[in-house]
Amino acid sequence: MSAIPYRRAGKSGLDLSAFAFGLWQKFGTDYSYDNQRAILLHAFELGITHFDNADRYGPPHRAAQKLFGEVLRKDLAAHRDELILSTKAGNPIGTSPYLQGGSRKSLLGSLDHSLRDLGTDYVDIFYHHRADTSTPLEETVGALSDAVRQGKALYIGISNYPTSLSQEISRLLRAAGVPLLVHQPRYSIFDRSREDDGLLDLAAEDGFGVVVYSPLAQGLLTDKYLDGIPAGARAQNSAFLSPDAITDEYREKARALNKLAAERGQSLAQLALQWVLRRTEVTSALIGASSPEQLDHNVRALDFPAFTDDELALIDEHSR
Ligand code: NDP
Repeated sequence: MSAIPYRRAGKSGLDLSAFAFGLWQKFGTDYSYDNQRAILLHAFELGITHFDNADRYGPPHRAAQKLFGEVLRKDLAAHRDELILSTKAGNPIGTSPYLQGGSRKSLLGSLDHSLRDLGTDYVDIFYHHRADTSTPLEETVGALSDAVRQGKALYIGISNYPTSLSQEISRLLRAAGVPLLVHQPRYSIFDRSREDDGLLDLAAEDGFGVVVYSPLAQGLLTDKYLDGIPAGARAQNSAFLSPDAITDEYREKARALNKLAAERGQSLAQLALQWVLRRTEVTSALIGASSPEQLDHNVRALDFPAFTDDELALIDEHSR
């Protein structure tokens, strides 16, 4: 297996591992700590140095960060300088107006709490989790840039922002002396919306990197659902992936893509990850995993020949 390469985040000075690991699902108090710890440590052993968190991740909210903080303290403390830790704020974690949105109160309050959860003085990337058009963008930018000035974050990211607002906040952040490092959108063979709405083009023009989440469409772009829903799979036990997603139409697409992957000597998961990383604007594929073995398998995605134009056209045909 090749070592996981680093890729430059846009026009910044920061390199990020081509795969980042996210703690969105199965990293709350609902799964075994030993398994969660084994996955995190295996990711690091494989060369994944970028770990993605949010105040929301659990259940309950904040549990994933507390878990990561424990592993950091017990197992990875000596490697803090080699790690990129990210967290996010702004997606609701409660009904209070201070536990959501883009106000200075919400963002800086959440960041302070996240630093306590993680047991670290700073995060490498602090994201606004989603746009909040009810708050003046200047206030959000002021809070984000102050997080950097206060030494609580090294870089700023945004997630799920529409393209026009991304351009605007990038301009304001640059004017505030804190250029936007990365955007974190959803992107996969099954979700091309951020290609279609110009976000990837804007990243190239504007110089920010792109860390794409759910590149496996939460597991739909693997072979696991071709013949049913295996016990313990996300589609069986997650609020975010319904069994209803496993339709005949889905299976037809997944089988065609799986066949193409097999012809290339790889799995569907590897094809899907290689596909998002074919775009130079994409800095990292932000993946999840429920076992160390899934990680072993997935990080081999870059060990295969580049796609030909004919193969890319077939992927389009099978997935649209
Ligand atoms: P993926 O699309 O990579 O899905 C990961 C899931 O797919 C795994 O947890 C596992 O689920 C399944 N899987 C992975 N590899 C394999 C394999 N080889 N064979 C079979 N099944 C496999 O990403 P996620 O949807 O998990 O998102 C990744 C991260 O992105 C999150 O943790 C979070 O950090 C970030 N994110 C950010 C969002 C935002 O709004 N900014 C929103 C969503 C995610 P299982 O085994 O349980 O079925």
